Amino acid sequence: MHICLDRTGFNTTSIFFPQYLQRLRKNLPPYSNVTVSELIWNHTMFPFYTAFLSQERSDSIHGMMVDGCGKSIENSLGFSGGKVKPYNRLRYCPKCYAEDMDEFGESFWRRLHQVPDVLYCPKHGVSLKSTIVPSTEKYADYWCADSDVCNTEVEDDIYDERIKELNQAYIRNAMFLMSGDYKKKELHHIVDFYVDRLRERGFASARGFIYVQDFVDEFLRFYPSDYLSLMQSDVNVNQKANWLRLFVRNNGKNRSPLRHLLVLQFLGVSAEEFFHEQTTTGKIMARVNHAPSFDLEQRRKAWLKIIEENPGLNRSQLKEIGKGLHTWIYKHDRDWYEQVTPRIHKRKKRTPVIDWAKRDEECLALAKQAVESILNREGKPIRVLPATIRQEVGVRRWLDNPKLVRTRRFIQQVTEDINSYRIRKIKWAISELESEGLSVTVYKIQLRAGFGGNNKEMSELVARVMQGIYK
Ligand SMILES: [Zn+2]
Repeated sequence: MHICLDRTGFNTTSIFFPQYLQRLRKNLPPYSNVTVSELIWNHTMFPFYTAFLSQERSDSIHGMMVDGCGKSIENSLGFSGGKVKPYNRLRYCPKCYAEDMDEFGESFWRRLHQVPDVLYCPKHGVSLKSTIVPSTEKYADYWCADSDVCNTEVEDDIYDERIKELNQAYIRNAMFLMSGDYKKKELHHIVDFYVDRLRERGFASARGFIYVQDFVDEFLRFYPSDYLSLMQSDVNVNQKANWLRLFVRNNGKNRSPLRHLLVLQFLGVSAEEFFHEQTTTGKIMARVNHAPSFDLEQRRKAWLKIIEENPGLNRSQLKEIGKGLHTWIYKHDRDWYEQVTPRIHKRKKRTPVIDWAKRDEECLALAKQAVESILNREGKPIRVLPATIRQEVGVRRWLDNPKLVRTRRFIQQVTEDINSYRIRKIKWAISELESEGLSVTVYKIQLRAGFGGNNKEMSELVARVMQGIYK
């Protein structure tokens, strides 16, 4: 598997993801009929690391290996910042090595033994051993699998039976990925597949809402914690954004193949079964009120404008003015329509008596809904304030009325002080960085949260929040 390329004017070499293979191919003897694709699929770590990536992304990495890209593919796969790291030394099986020496008089490095957290040789069942040969070396250097770095002594197995059994199932899956015998799935299909299996096991509702806590608890019952540590996948139950919680969310973030295999194994599905299953249901979207909220907001604004610009008109007159708009709002946003649209009966001189208690209740419900949607919003958090609540609800006129006692009290209670808001932003920034597989540092958090890099007060706050999270 070990392709070492010595290139001029280019100093990134890689054992796992060699580049410029087209050039290498051209320099092979004319009678050699090995193709560049064969080199990539049969002799590099490509099939393992790209198995769960989209077709587009895999193709792009394939292209970098064929033609070279001048930068490290490991970095673009998130190796350096990622939570799951490859071994930084090449590994081997002492029995394979002994057999090779007997049969061929020389040995070679096997790809499967370099897959992260493969602990055993599947052929001999013995523990793999590490060498002094760096796998992440920046300089091209040729290391033969010979007696300088390998030997035939079998080491004692230090793990208990359960760990061995779990790891052997993982190895079988890793072997399947290495075979490259799979059809690509896009990430949202993968997540849908997980949701389907979780639903079958009672960890998700019919509509696909995942009971995350139950899922996490069961996962931790299935895998002993020392095995998860060994697999570089500790699950911190106190951490809201631990990898497992993020893993089953449809967030488009990169996930380590090792962790896909851990989740599949927990679900009782082999990698082979996974890649051959083609139908998924996933989350079932609610059919009502499906219009994008941006549209909804715009329509509400337009309707309010009609009301404001035409005081004294009754509903059917307003309807005449905003015809299509009225139809849409009446159909899709009826509750809101009822609340904001005045009822004016032409012949009555009295202004209608407003039932403030009832309206208070309605407004309270709207405000609660608004707060929830502000807090659950994707992307950078926005602060919960009377103004942002009003904006979210789309009602300007009534929410501030002193007669709406409960609504006003609610808004007062949920209004975020600046410090809580900053803490929420920091936690958000941490979970973003984590889910992107980046290292989490005070400085990066500051930038992501939008505090700028030079604010000392903020960096102290970030450090305090991190201590709370990573204790
Ligand atoms: Zn072996």
